[in-house]
Amino acid sequence: MVLVFVEHDGGEPDELSLQALTFARGYAADAPVEAVMVGPGAAEAAPALGDHGVATVNVAEIDGGFAPQAWARAVAELAGRLSPAAVIAAGSDRGNEILAHAAVMTGCVLAANCVAATPGEPAEVTRMRWGGSLLEEARVHGAMALMTVAPHAVAIEPAPGDAPAVQAFAPELQEQDLVVRVSERVDTSTGGLSLADAPVVVSGGRGVGSAEGFAPIEELAELLGGAVGCSRAVTSAGWRPHTDQVGQTGTKISPDLYIPCGISGATQHMAGCKGAKKILAINSDPEASILASADYAVLGDVAEVVPAITAELRRARQTAAS
Ligand SMILES: Cc1cc2nc3c(=O)[nH]c(=O)nc-3n(C[C@H](O)[C@H](O)[C@H](O)COP(=O)(O)OP(=O)(O)OC[C@H]3O[C@@H](n4cnc5c(N)ncnc54)[C@H](O)[C@@H]3O)c2cc1C
Repeated sequence: MVLVFVEHDGGEPDELSLQALTFARGYAADAPVEAVMVGPGAAEAAPALGDHGVATVNVAEIDGGFAPQAWARAVAELAGRLSPAAVIAAGSDRGNEILAHAAVMTGCVLAANCVAATPGEPAEVTRMRWGGSLLEEARVHGAMALMTVAPHAVAIEPAPGDAPAVQAFAPELQEQDLVVRVSERVDTSTGGLSLADAPVVVSGGRGVGSAEGFAPIEELAELLGGAVGCSRAVTSAGWRPHTDQVGQTGTKISPDLYIPCGISGATQHMAGCKGAKKILAINSDPEASILASADYAVLGDVAEVVPAITAELRRARQTAAS
């Protein structure tokens, strides 16, 4: 049996978790796949897993919002009881965090960001390292392998079956398990468009110069129906929140069009945007390494080029409308 930690939101299973379920079914072969879900809305999201080959959904009853150690305790306790061959989760921030805690609690090994795995003793995995620039072949020793699945490495393949049995359980928590927990959620003003899914992303780097310098970037992004991103130099300077960061330690994006403005193109940044279909770079330095990855480039000052593009787009749209 293979156990999968499934994330959910708004009563629906998360897309990356459905990818993890497809991966898990391949790993399990003919063995059953069970799921574990935690948090408000888990019971509502559970029945949908019947379309993804899950026989039983174990719903951990823990009051309140996300509490990494408490949720990991639920996964570890269940794994101790069910003795699965593997515990698998999405390679999301949450999936990696939960399984890292669960690995410590169970004394088992975690292989993060896997793209393929073959069961056995030891299990063999291929996993992404260095923001996807390197694929590592590794062996995972121990009776139970813990793995997270690299986002978008596996396409979701539904496997419709009977409605799963839903079993609630109350994990035995320790006092320190609830010390770290989400106490409040504040919505960002993205107008419902997420950086990861936006068809167009306009990002600013150090070359934008200041937090205020992002106003023309925001205007262009809005005009193109896109989202605003940034480099780590920007989040480190406190000009934008970390949720806007594109890169190895930020969000991985794959828009139709990516417009990096005043961004040099460090490997850690490119690791987050190499899925972009087209890149239009705006930079004042003809030697900037981002130009090597760009399909189009405008050499110039971001403070002049971005407003000029916006003005031209508005003019062209007005002409088309009249
Ligand atoms: C472990 C690790 C993880 C990291 N993760 C990430 C990550 O997830 N994302 C990320 O972005 N970085 C990440 N970094 C940092 C990364 O190495 C770079 O330092 C960072 O991407 C640089 O940001 P930048 O391109 O905005 O700044 P810089 O490298 O300083 O580049 C600024 C660019 O702006 C141009 N410029 C300057 N003025 C203007 C102007 N007026 N008009 C037009 N162009 C102008 C310059 O020519 C230059 O090309 C990571 C680093 C490490 C070590």
